[in-house]
Amino acid sequence: MAARGSDLKYKRLLLKLSGEALMGKQPYGIDMSVADRLAGDIAEATAAGAQIAVVIGGGNIFRGLSGAAKGMDRATADYMGMLATVMNALAFQNALDHKGVPARVLSAIPMPTVCESYVRPKSLSYLAKSQVVLFAAGTGNPFFTTDTAAVLRAIEMNCDAVLKATQVDGVYSADPKKHPDAKRYDRLSYAEVLANDLKVMDGAAIALARDNRLPLIVVSIDEPGNLLKVLRGEARQTIIETTG
Ligand code: UDP
Repeated sequence: MAARGSDLKYKRLLLKLSGEALMGKQPYGIDMSVADRLAGDIAEATAAGAQIAVVIGGGNIFRGLSGAAKGMDRATADYMGMLATVMNALAFQNALDHKGVPARVLSAIPMPTVCESYVRPKSLSYLAKSQVVLFAAGTGNPFFTTDTAAVLRAIEMNCDAVLKATQVDGVYSADPKKHPDAKRYDRLSYAEVLANDLKVMDGAAIALARDNRLPLIVVSIDEPGNLLKVLRGEARQTIIETTG
């Protein structure tokens, strides 16, 4: 019999969910029905033998830059943004729990009565046991984003790729909702993303992925079941990787 997960192109994947992805059609906050659907996709992936790590953003609750724009000190606003990601991670852990998927929240900012603190070997051992690990509080540092946290944790966890969940089926030359003639890419190099300022992740995240040859996959996860398709290499997506 083939080993569990042996038919998967990517066995260990880090899923980056923005805060907006959890918001659904609401103006802010968390839509638990959306969290529930995403948790279902993860349940399907782990049942197929994949190991899944998740980094969740906080933009649906608080964005550091918007706080700073209103006169708050940027670093303070960023810490508030990181706390927002912990709220999202706890909500998502709950959704996974309802699906019977064991999941751990590990925060880069220690808050021992709320969740575990991020410790690399501990996280690796959870993943090896096929538990889902939810990395909260970004990198733990202001002036960074959860995109950079996603790439950083993926490298630390020896993930095969980062999947960036969006509302469209890949990377386009311009916003396809505003520019119907925008070009869609199947494959890009890190240099092309940086040189053309394509809206995938911030520059620090792209450069970190490039330096560590970590593939970035951009896909729509509005479509249920797409996570498993990515793991099997069957999704309509854009992949950013080392070319040549
Ligand atoms: N943040 C931070 N350091 C990090 C990650 C996040 O300071 O390592 C703060 C920052 O203020 C950011 C907010 O947390 O605006 C929410 O994260 P992000 O904007 O990346 O969330 P997303 O857009 O993915 O929902």
